[in-house]
Amino acid sequence: MGEKEFEGRVAVVTGARRGIGAEIALALAERGAAVALVGRTFEGSGAAERAAAANGGRAKAFLCDVSSSEEVARTFAEIEKEFGRIDFLVNNAGIVRDALVARMTDDQFDDVVRNNLRSVFLCTRAVSRAMVKARFGRIVNVASVVALRPSAGQANYAASKAGVVAFTVSTARELASRGITVNAVAPGFVETDMTASLPEKLKAEYLSRIPAGRAGTPRDVANAVVFLLSDAASYVTGQVLAVDGGLHG
Ligand code: NAP
Repeated sequence: MGEKEFEGRVAVVTGARRGIGAEIALALAERGAAVALVGRTFEGSGAAERAAAANGGRAKAFLCDVSSSEEVARTFAEIEKEFGRIDFLVNNAGIVRDALVARMTDDQFDDVVRNNLRSVFLCTRAVSRAMVKARFGRIVNVASVVALRPSAGQANYAASKAGVVAFTVSTARELASRGITVNAVAPGFVETDMTASLPEKLKAEYLSRIPAGRAGTPRDVANAVVFLLSDAASYVTGQVLAVDGGLHG
């Protein structure tokens, strides 16, 4: 894998304002890809500026709620107009609304499924026709280790991420003959705003269970995404790559 292995490629990363998505956008820009960073807001972020600094200015932020059909259709059309094509899609946007099932509200369930699963469908549909025409495409969905080993108190999140895994495998089968791969990464415990809000006791308990002895970093996840987008992974499709320091398994 060369340093600028993604030169000439156009990548879309959702939920790229902060955390894992911002790091994936930066890692792709460092390898020469033009990057469309998609997010609901970019206030106080600097993610697009950092990516642009890494690839000579070919990065741009696009405002979009990826759970909205209309906004996704409009935004992906804008991205194609701006960059001419889309080669890579990284469906990273996601939220948590943890609660015990007995106390979970309809909104807590629906919001998580809309933001984590419906968004993957909408964005995949938005790129699939052009990718089929081009006979090339790489899609990576950010699932979670929770999809493989669900924990208590997150039934909405676990179900949404298990849905992402099933969607990944199904889509991979649909698109494999067209030169398109669809894979997922399943991060374990990664230090971002999402995990920062967990109670200290729970955090310590998670950490103590990680065989590698440390939390994951957004760069650990970005590195796995880079591999799945690379030519080295062109015969890998429908897979879920756990990036969790050995937590699952
Ligand atoms: P984060 O710091 O909370 O960032 C999530 C990003 O997604 C935010 O920028 C958020 O936008 C964006 N987003 C959410 N819903 C969106 C929507 N409808 N439209 C556009 N953008 C949306 O979380 P993270 O830890 O980086 O998580 C990234 C992905 O990794 C998520 O799918 C998460 O489930 C998954 N994951 C994380 C961990 C972990 O330990 N951190 C573990 C396993 C899986 P705003 O900035 O506007 O809120």
